[in-house]
Amino acid sequence: MRPFRYHRPADVADAVAVLAGEPHAAYLGGGTNLVDLMKLGVQRPELLVDVTRLPLDAVQELPDGGLRIGATVRNSDLAARPAVRRDYPVLARALLAAASGQLRNLATTGGNLLQRTRCVYFQDTGKACNKRDPGSGCAALHGQNRDLAVLDWSEQCVATHPSDLAVALAALDAVVEVHDADGARDVPLAALYRSPGTHPERETTLARGTLITAVRLPALPAARRSAYLKVRDRASFAFAAGSVAAVLDLDGDVVRDVRLAYGAVAHRPWRAYRAEEELRGRPFSPELAARAADAELAEARPLRHNGFKLPLTRAITVRVLTELASS
Ligand code: SF4
Repeated sequence: MRPFRYHRPADVADAVAVLAGEPHAAYLGGGTNLVDLMKLGVQRPELLVDVTRLPLDAVQELPDGGLRIGATVRNSDLAARPAVRRDYPVLARALLAAASGQLRNLATTGGNLLQRTRCVYFQDTGKACNKRDPGSGCAALHGQNRDLAVLDWSEQCVATHPSDLAVALAALDAVVEVHDADGARDVPLAALYRSPGTHPERETTLARGTLITAVRLPALPAARRSAYLKVRDRASFAFAAGSVAAVLDLDGDVVRDVRLAYGAVAHRPWRAYRAEEELRGRPFSPELAARAADAELAEARPLRHNGFKLPLTRAITVRVLTELASS
C-alpha cells in the first residue's frame, strides 16, 4: 500500500473543508472497502480524513414516527436496534445478509452506501476498466459478466452496486442527509445514485468532498410487514446474485400499497416502480407477483453470462411477496 497522511477532523465542517482543499483525499469510515481497494492499488488517496470519531453515531426515533440514523452507526448496531427490528424488518434483514459479522461490526451506514462495485475487472489494475481508469474500456462487457447488470447498463460499464442496505433503503424511500461546502441538505436516496452512462466513474450525484451525515427513514407503518431476500452463491459472506426488498400492505387480499427494490441487477439499487404499479389495487396472488416482476424486467438486457438473473429475480419476487402476504 502506498503511504498516506491521516487527519482526524474536529467536526463536520472541518472534515468537509479539509477534503475541499485536497484533490487526493478520501473520507475513512469503517474502511472495510476503501482499505481493501488501497491495498489493491485501485484507490490511492494521499490523505485519509477519519470521520469515525465525529458525533454521527446516534440512532434517533423521530417525533413523526420516522428514524434518523447517523452516518457512522455500525451495521451490526443498526441491525440490533429494537426500533429497526420492529418498524423496518426489511432493513434489519438486509444488514444481516451482508458480509460477515466481523465486517458488519466495522462497516458504517454512510460507508455502506458509498461502497464500490465488486466487478472483478475493477479490482484488477491490469485490466481495462472505465470506472477505475476512464477511457480505458470495459473488460467485463465481453468478459466474465455473470455477476453484473441486466438493467440500465451502458457500453462503458455493466457493473452492479453491491450494497444490501441501499436496496432496503430504496424500498423505504430513505432520505440522505449530506454536508458540503455550502452546508447541509437532503438528497432522496432515489436521487443519490447515477446510471453508468458515459461516465461510470461517477457513481453518485454528490460533488467530491460531500460527506454523508445521516439517513432518515419516513414513518411507514406498512413497513412492519416487510422483508429482504438475498440469493447468493454461498450461505454467508457473499454478494447477491439477486436480492429483493419488499414492503406489502394488504386490505383483505387486495394490495393497498407495496414497495419493491432489487439488488444485483443494475449500477444502483433498483426501485421496481413498474412492478409496484402492476400489484397496487389488485387481489394478491403469486401469479400477480410473477406478472409484476415480468413487467419490471421487460426491458432487461442480459449479458452473455447473466441471463439467469431474470428468472431468479422473478422467483424471489414471488417468494418474498407470497411470504409477506401470508404473514
Ligand atoms: Fe469497469 Fe464497469 Fe466494466 Fe467492470 S463493468 S470493468 S467496473 S467499466
